[in-house]
Amino acid sequence: MLINLDKSEKKLAKKIIDIFKKDFKSAKIFFAGDKTISVENLKKGEAPALFSQIKAVLPKSEIICSAEEFYPNAVKSKFSFDKKFEIIAGPCAAENIKSYLKTASFLKSLGLKYIRGPIFKPRQSPYSFQGLEEKGIEILKEAKEKYSLKIVTEVLSAEQANKVCSYCDIFQVGAANMRNYALLKYLSESDKPVLLKRTQGATIKDWLSSAEYLAVKNKNIIFCERGDYPLFPESGINFNLAAKIKKDFSLCVIADISHSSLGSDFVVPGAWAARYFGLDGIMVEIHENPQKSKVDGKHALNFKDFEKLIKKLKSLG
Ligand code: PEP
Ligand code: MN
Repeated sequence: MLINLDKSEKKLAKKIIDIFKKDFKSAKIFFAGDKTISVENLKKGEAPALFSQIKAVLPKSEIICSAEEFYPNAVKSKFSFDKKFEIIAGPCAAENIKSYLKTASFLKSLGLKYIRGPIFKPRQSPYSFQGLEEKGIEILKEAKEKYSLKIVTEVLSAEQANKVCSYCDIFQVGAANMRNYALLKYLSESDKPVLLKRTQGATIKDWLSSAEYLAVKNKNIIFCERGDYPLFPESGINFNLAAKIKKDFSLCVIADISHSSLGSDFVVPGAWAARYFGLDGIMVEIHENPQKSKVDGKHALNFKDFEKLIKKLKSLG
């Protein structure tokens, strides 16, 4: 970490440097030139604490800190898919056994490996469909046994993670829970990968900070860019941000091309964008009859359009 001192704060810096040394015992904090303080040897995780102390005392000075110092675990997340471009598809919510098994069989017939299996839904209104909840566990179990697909399921709490743990392969932390630190801490202890969505409006720093909670012990993280609020000026999927965190830290990053699209017409172009931005894959919502879908039918792809998309992706290799 480097501190480029503002002229007005030079004197103060001289005074407080000893205080920083006391609080961060292993650190070497010294003047590297007249206007620069260098901080070396910080222990893992100490950088954010020192950063906020310095910011409070020397607000005008510039603090240069690397991502490795700030998110030492998250940047080492090492999950990778078997394929160069993976597809995680399925309904917004598992609705009933018949339709879920039909979807599973369809995905299997296309040679896909993953299926969305949401049974706990994070809904803005408590009166909206909350998912099948515990009753959905049997459905996931049956689909898994019959079609040996890998199930990606969202959990909103440690309790839910515990209940569904034996019937899923990847936990999803949705946009609504990117900052649910208790959940992230709990999933950090899990041996299953975690798909961590970027919540609407969150910065790279916010996203990596959340990932840091998970990556203390669980380094199997799939970063999923899901976009911002549709119809807001900043709306849409932020492919630039997704590609940047992938490039800068070699992380596994996919795009959820459904939730921030403005309807099913815009979903397929999202898949091409994800490919051209060099992402690791896509998440996409499909439904046998989108008009009858209990949730998010407006952007779900029907089977025919999804099949076309998969064929086109396969033809591109
Ligand atoms: C979902 O993937 O089912 C979901 C609720 O999405 P998000 O968390 O991105 O809103
Ligand atoms: Mn949805």
